[in-house]
Amino acid sequence: MTDDVAIVGAGPTGLLLAGDLAAAGVPCTVLERRAGESNLTRAFAVHARTLELLDARGLADELLRTGTTVDRLHVIGGVVLDLTWLPSRFPFMLITPQYHTERLLERRARALGARIVTGVEVTGLRQDADGVELELRTEEAATERRRAAYVVGADGVRSTVRRAIGLGFPGRSAVGSMMLADVRLKEAPREALSVAGGAVGFALVASFGDGWHRVIAWNRGHQLADGAPVDLDELRDTTRCAYGTDFGMHDPRWASRFHSDERQVARYRSGRVLLAGDAAHVHSPAGGLGMNAGLQDAANLGWKLAAEAQRRAPAGLLDSYHAERHPVGRATVRASATMLRLALARSRLLRATRGPVARAVTRIPPLNRRATGFVSGIAITYPDGGRRAPDFPLTGGGRLYEALGAGRFVLIAPAGHGVPDGWADRVDQATAAGERLLVRPDGYVAWSAGDGDLRAALARWCGPPAGRAVSRDRQDGLDVDIARRG
Ligand SMILES: Cc1cc2nc3c(=O)[nH]c(=O)nc-3n(C[C@H](O)[C@H](O)[C@H](O)COP(=O)(O)OP(=O)(O)OC[C@H]3O[C@@H](n4cnc5c(N)ncnc54)[C@H](O)[C@@H]3O)c2cc1C
Repeated sequence: MTDDVAIVGAGPTGLLLAGDLAAAGVPCTVLERRAGESNLTRAFAVHARTLELLDARGLADELLRTGTTVDRLHVIGGVVLDLTWLPSRFPFMLITPQYHTERLLERRARALGARIVTGVEVTGLRQDADGVELELRTEEAATERRRAAYVVGADGVRSTVRRAIGLGFPGRSAVGSMMLADVRLKEAPREALSVAGGAVGFALVASFGDGWHRVIAWNRGHQLADGAPVDLDELRDTTRCAYGTDFGMHDPRWASRFHSDERQVARYRSGRVLLAGDAAHVHSPAGGLGMNAGLQDAANLGWKLAAEAQRRAPAGLLDSYHAERHPVGRATVRASATMLRLALARSRLLRATRGPVARAVTRIPPLNRRATGFVSGIAITYPDGGRRAPDFPLTGGGRLYEALGAGRFVLIAPAGHGVPDGWADRVDQATAAGERLLVRPDGYVAWSAGDGDLRAALARWCGPPAGRAVSRDRQDGLDVDIARRG
């Protein structure tokens, strides 16, 4: 029997998750308040690890064609972060409007059979031992109820799901009156992405590669309420103060004023309800990390929730979503906060020293790699040692990340060391020169030669071997049993 998952919110997080669940054969429905396509283009930075995850889903090459890539990030104070060293197919950052990413994810989710229902707002929920009852309001203002075995709140920063399960969103307001616009420039900056700052505030200019540029600007002396319209002259003045030129900006197609909070929920799971993306953690756009973190949450959660919904998950698997992603969320909020504070620096001393100090630090290759490893997502590891599996060619053709496209575990082992009996229904096998690894569906290493018994790792991550169905309360005992038998 297969359970049903309801995902609240068709933003990037909800759409990637819906595709993964549908690919695993889990019936799922996305409930989205908006009636039409979002006209917001918030995120524009897609980092290397996210591109790898999209690559495993067959979407990266198409997304790359929608934008422009940058392999050296020119950040405040003349600091240059070098991405060319990244051990990835994608040693760069992609600049593309968020709606391109969302369109590809939505197309994939629908093609795989996920239902996406728009014009429906989730107004509350109640969970019991067997499932979750959602309360919905339709466009016609009718109230409806819907039951699901599991619910994922991917409903953004003001998450109704988070409130309905009684969780707070501790943190603070970080910055207000940030201006955002997509404009044309008479004279574009030399770099595809750059940031400049001064006493008045700062500005960021990023090129989408199609003649449009994203400008984000903040003026310390001109703080207005969120809803106040953005005046092009105000944007020009602030950009001029930061860069010494406004690049001849004109014809804005879209402008808005926003504020950012830095917050994180204490628990990503409450019984049958899970939180992901901005519903779980939020911070300013500094670093371009939010959408990337949400997509990586979804990739971590999808295969675990699919196993849980299909009643084949080993004990503790679904809880490992919080254990793995909460610390990453915390580090992401902190990293973004540090970058924001440097950009907003009020103190003259800090403004004068931030550039030289950061330049000196980032010229030291290990420190540059540390910074870019985190921002790109390539260096993110999980608490019990789970590290990212690098992509590599497989014997006989193809790459590891293509093999991960099936959404299953992949055992990389020499011929003659195949998938042990009882796990072939969940684990594919491939060979690659010099590699012996068990790779999770999200591209993290579950086991490698030298880690001890492969069967113990299989039992821990995939569940017991087929034909040895056990009750959940015996699961831990089974893991130990298998480990002992070696
Ligand atoms: C100016 C700006 C620039 C940014 N730049 C970047 C960047 O370069 N890179 C980056 O990685 N991130 C960036 N971000 C952050 C990024 O936009 C968010 O992190 C990302 O959109 C979060 O995705 P999500 O799917 O979790 O939530 P959202 O995109 O907020 O989607 C939530 C969805 O849920 C729906 N919804 C809400 N409540 C309900 C309800 N009750 N019922 C039904 N549906 C509901 C909403 O309509 C929405 O469609 C930026 C953010 C801002 C503001």
